Amino acid sequence: MVLEGKIALVTGASRGIGRLLALALASKGVCVVGTARSLDHSIGTGGTLKDTIQEIREKGGRAMGLVCEVSDPNQVESTVINVIKEFGRIDLLVNNAGILHYDDTWEFPVGVWQDMMAINVTGPFLFCRFIVPHMIQAGNGNILNITSEVGRRSITKLNPYGTSKAALNQFTINLANELREYKIAVNAIEPGYTATDMTGYRGESIGLVEGPAMWILAQDMSGFTGQVVDRREFGRTWGPTDGNTIDQ
Ligand code: NDP
Repeated sequence: MVLEGKIALVTGASRGIGRLLALALASKGVCVVGTARSLDHSIGTGGTLKDTIQEIREKGGRAMGLVCEVSDPNQVESTVINVIKEFGRIDLLVNNAGILHYDDTWEFPVGVWQDMMAINVTGPFLFCRFIVPHMIQAGNGNILNITSEVGRRSITKLNPYGTSKAALNQFTINLANELREYKIAVNAIEPGYTATDMTGYRGESIGLVEGPAMWILAQDMSGFTGQVVDRREFGRTWGPTDGNTIDQ
């Protein structure tokens, strides 16, 4: 398997989509480093980082959990240093941690706007800022940003969230262009609706994160970079393969 033995760092792996992604990657032989703001406590109901790591290990996989506030430059830098010390490299970075808040723009709490930009946009920048030099040194790498269709489509009461995801999409495209010569792929994926704390669902998250889109992107299909893809379409109606040449 192409993914076997790779080292992946997944932010927001305590619950929701990050947890589903971490479990799915680990099931393919990837060693997963998951992050969240606490090991054994999460503001949501979909699990904790400790739960995710434990479940991966119980299933025979390799995983490590690190506490990290994604908007804090010092915490992100020391997280990256710790992972490099432990494993020597990071092959795949999944920028998944994010927040959402519904409100009309003229009523939107200013502090929540600032947090949203710090977590949804600055967070991915910081992880790229500190991981990319290691990927350049290694001669390859793969970055996957979890975005939303709201970054391309206007939805009432989601202006700040949509703005943060639109910024993430453009960041993805710009970084992909900067890193093309270094053989580092940078793409963004819209997972589509997933039942998680973010969408008001309580309990173990349910979603369809697995499938051709995720595996094509996680496996770094040589030269496929700078794209914002819809999970539901990609790998089925378009993409770098016909869906037969990848491990799904
Ligand atoms: P959840 O609210 O269920 O999970 C959010 C995750 O992000 C948790 O693991 C949380 O960890 C972590 N997180 C939040 N804030 C921070 C922070 N400041 N520092 C570190 N970690 C943080 O959300 P989802 O799983 O639903 O969403 C995951 C991603 O997918 C987001 O980027 C979201 O925008 C995107 N998305 C989700 C969709 C959906 O339908 N659910 C649809 C489209 C996109 P903890 O609280 O434990 O620290």
